[in-house]
Amino acid sequence: MEDNPVKLMEILTGEKNPILRQKSQPVEHLTKEVRDLIMQMKRIMNDNNGVGLAASQINVSLRVIICEVDNKFYAFINPEIIKFSKETSSLEEGCLSLPNIYGEVKRPEKIILRAINSDGTKIKLKAFGLLARVIQHEIDHLDGILFIDKAKNIKREMQRTGGQI
Ligand code: ZN
Repeated sequence: MEDNPVKLMEILTGEKNPILRQKSQPVEHLTKEVRDLIMQMKRIMNDNNGVGLAASQINVSLRVIICEVDNKFYAFINPEIIKFSKETSSLEEGCLSLPNIYGEVKRPEKIILRAINSDGTKIKLKAFGLLARVIQHEIDHLDGILFIDKAKNIKREMQRTGGQI
């Protein structure tokens, strides 16, 4: 993929960026604007070869996250983790909002998520592995938390191609 500075500018970056550090607000009504936001987020995530994105990363302070794991796309509105497993796993994460930074983050291996999907249906989802990790990383964004707050062995290196959340 060739560099496109216009596309990259759509994603807010910086560990001290005040917008990335604020708590996002719940979605009260699932309007066309919210559905359009999800489509815009999907385009930006795909253009940047990401596997997840939170609305706050594109300067929209609403509790909306998306992810794409194993070629399956998910959009979650007002997501809430209602159960975390005691079992944890550690994996290196990166983030589209923290280019060139990587670090190992320990997170619960399995979660149960409650959310609203883009059809407006209330859902409950059990997730494990990468999907559970991406969901936790994105919900952290909604609370102003960045992965480097939790990471160990932080590395700063040249940008890799894709896989950031
Ligand atoms: Zn991120």
